[in-house]
Amino acid sequence: MSTATTRSTRRSEGELRALAVEGSLLDDTDAVGVARWAAETFPGTLAVACSMAEGVLPHLVSQHAPGVDVLFLETGYHFSDTIGTRARVADELDVTVVDVMPELTVAEQDARFGPRLHDRDPVSCCAMRKMEPLARTLDGYEAWVTGVRRDEAPTRTHTPLVTFDEKHGLVKVNPLVTWSLDDVTAYAITHAVPVNLLLSDGYPSIGCEPCTKRVAPGEDPRSGRWAGLSKTECGIHT
Ligand code: SF4
Repeated sequence: MSTATTRSTRRSEGELRALAVEGSLLDDTDAVGVARWAAETFPGTLAVACSMAEGVLPHLVSQHAPGVDVLFLETGYHFSDTIGTRARVADELDVTVVDVMPELTVAEQDARFGPRLHDRDPVSCCAMRKMEPLARTLDGYEAWVTGVRRDEAPTRTHTPLVTFDEKHGLVKVNPLVTWSLDDVTAYAITHAVPVNLLLSDGYPSIGCEPCTKRVAPGEDPRSGRWAGLSKTECGIHT
């Protein structure tokens, strides 16, 4: 496991809010320009979130921030293909993959709350295995970059390009907001970045294995996430 690169002094919330306003005025169709702005504005205090569906966002940001920290939420429930993609991203790209770990191992969680909590209470499971560890980790940065796209789900239609993330208290940069899945695929091919094999095996949206089902061609890409439940988001981006 790598360790995060952080700087000792973090700018004030007021300064970060002003920088978020500056970023919000950028061209939302210029992902490269937005990534460059983020790298130049937050040197050493920038993190990239990556689910390891592919390495597009880490590649894009690392062109301007070599060695940038890439945060991977290591829930303990990932597909083996996702773990393999994580290894390739760490090996092949100029990034530092940081495994963001929950307080409890899966075995400890099972012992305390009973097995398969994800089936009975996915909100609590996501809170313990994703949201708390991410919040704890983001505390050391001034900005984070995510791959959220407006076309992914109705809950993401109004995703801003750059904003002050009230939940986590830092700047949130979403350079791919106007991209489609085809744009992501084209970038991955052009730049030969690692791609999770599950994407071409019926899993257009990849999460933890117990909570991700294969979807039929043409179906809502996110319908395989927490299928059959009203839950559609883990809570990180909402
Ligand atoms: S996606 Fe499922 S297994 Fe993963 S943290 Fe959330 S509830 Fe738990």
